[in-house]
Order: sequence, then C-alpha cells, then structure tokens
Amino acid sequence: MELADGVLAGDQRAIARAISLVENEPTRAPSLIRQLFARTGQASVIGITGAPGVGKSTLVDRLVVECRDRGKTVGVLAVDPSSPFTGGSILGDRIRMQSHSGDEGVYVRSMATHGHLGGLSNATSDAVLILDASGCDLVLIETVGVGQGEVDIARTADVSIVVTIPDAGDEVQAMKAGIMEIGDVFVVNKADRSGAERAVFEIEGMLALREFKEDAWSPPVLKTQATTGEGVSDLLETVNRFSEESSESQERRRERVHFRLTELLQYTFIQRLEKQEHSRILVRDAVERVAKGEVDPYTAAADIMERVT
Ligand code: GDP
Repeated sequence: MELADGVLAGDQRAIARAISLVENEPTRAPSLIRQLFARTGQASVIGITGAPGVGKSTLVDRLVVECRDRGKTVGVLAVDPSSPFTGGSILGDRIRMQSHSGDEGVYVRSMATHGHLGGLSNATSDAVLILDASGCDLVLIETVGVGQGEVDIARTADVSIVVTIPDAGDEVQAMKAGIMEIGDVFVVNKADRSGAERAVFEIEGMLALREFKEDAWSPPVLKTQATTGEGVSDLLETVNRFSEESSESQERRRERVHFRLTELLQYTFIQRLEKQEHSRILVRDAVERVAKGEVDPYTAAADIMERVT
C-alpha cells in the first residue's frame, strides 16, 4: 500500500512512517503532503505551551481522556525545539503510549529538532497535516518550554493554551517575553497548591495591559488540576468556544498559512542560492566585500536579490 493511502486509512504504522519521512527526508516530504492535502482541514489543532514541570504532559493526557470520552480521535505531538533527538522511539513516548495502548483513536509522537525542510515548525506543520488527513478530530501539540522555538511551534495551532502554575515567579516574567501574545487561553495548573488565585489575578493583570480589538476574544484564565482532571472539561469547552465563536480562528488559520509560506519561501530561496554555482559565488564574494568593509550588508543583499531573482 502507498504510504499516503495508509495515512488516509488511519493506519498508525503508516502515520509513524509518514511523520518520520517529513522529519528526516526533506526531498520526499513535498510529494507526500501533496497527496494528503486535499483530505486535510478537518482537525482542530490545539497548542499547549509552558515551562517544564508545569504539568503539560499530565494535562495533555487528561485532555486525551476527555476527548476520547466525547468520541473524538486524537493525535498528540510532543515537540522539543531544544533537543536534537527525534523519532517515535524515545522513552517518553513509550510511557505515554502505554496509557492509551490498544486505543486506535489515539496517536502519540515526539518530535525534535532535526534537519527538516525549513526547521522544526515546518516538520510540525507537516505532522499536523498527516494527523489531520489520517482522520484525527483533534491534534494536540505540546511544546516543552517557553522560548522562541515554542512560539513558532505555537503558530502552527488554531488555538494556543499557555500553562503556568501558582508561584511561577520568574516564569510569569518570562511569559511576558512573547508567550503572552500567543495565548488564547491561559491555565493555572496545580490549582491544588496555594497561590492559584493570585496567579490567575496576575495573569489577568498582564492581559489587561494587552490591547485587544473591539469584540475580540479576550483570553480567559482557567484553573486546572491535571492530576485529578479537575477543570479539564471546562478547558476543553473553552477551547471549543474559541474555535466556534471567535472570528480570530479564521484569521489565525490565515496567519498560520502566511507564516508557513514565508518560512518555506525563505528556505527555498536559500536552497536555490546554495544550489546554483553562480549564486554561491555571488554570496561568497559579497561576504568578502562586506567583511572588508567595502560594502554594507544591506546593499550586498539587495545586489544579490537583484541578480538571482
Ligand atoms: P511537564 O514537564 O510540563 O510536561 O510536566 P508534567 O506533566 O511532567 O508534570 C510535572 C509534575 O507535576 C509531575 O510530577 C506531575 O504529577 C505534577 N503535576 C501535574 N499536574 C499537577 C497538579 O494539578 N497538581 C499537582 N500537585 N501536581 C501536578
């Protein structure tokens, strides 16, 4: 059976091979995605971001259970932009899989930085398309940290959940650095700990400083206890409400496509520069001239653009 047919039939082994392919074989990825693309667009893509230890994995597991109870099929991508290791075989995956093993309605997979066409966020986008084409109703993308890598990954989701905990202190400060902007829903997990109310209040305070368009979705701050599942049903309801009510979800989709295309164009352009002998020479010469101070980098770049396009 063709790989694409296997994916479309929802075969878990085919899905695993397809994701490995988009991670590891950039030259083969485009033709696979071309075959699958017409069957995508059905899945809701939910991003879950937050510092290590806040309880994302536990929360994701609970969300999976909640979705399965509602009869939805789920794909989980655990993405680590800071790790060079990859592929469905790492320990975490096996442990995670165990709790859903034998359930054909759940697919769990880790992804990490690898020499993918245009970087990890592109590999993640492709993996989302694969899961979407395979029939997943929901795709959960869990990222490990709160850096730029995570922000880029979060852009591949329709809705982003930012997770924190009571007394996160520095982490809440770090959240200001970009992650705040991507949150559509905020979660204070470990609400069984003291200080949960204050954490909610702090985040609400920060959100109040953010400018929203009139009638725009204003991100709610929810409390959860991932270990018991408390608040998780509410969280899923809120996420659904964002997708249904918010005019931003359409806009988000467009932004996502725009981001993806821009990344792909950058990558393709650089590839082209590197592939052609004459453009390689142009770049090499420009590097020399800028290094010697003969020309400024803007002029050199503009000059190259003019000659290769
Ligand atoms: P991640 O690194 O963000 O994926 O965090 P994990 O899901 O691995 O959780 C880190 C630790 O926090 C684990 O020991 C969890 O059992 C614990 N944890 C997760 N959720 C809660 C919660 O709601 N309350 C408490 N007290 N502990 C939790």
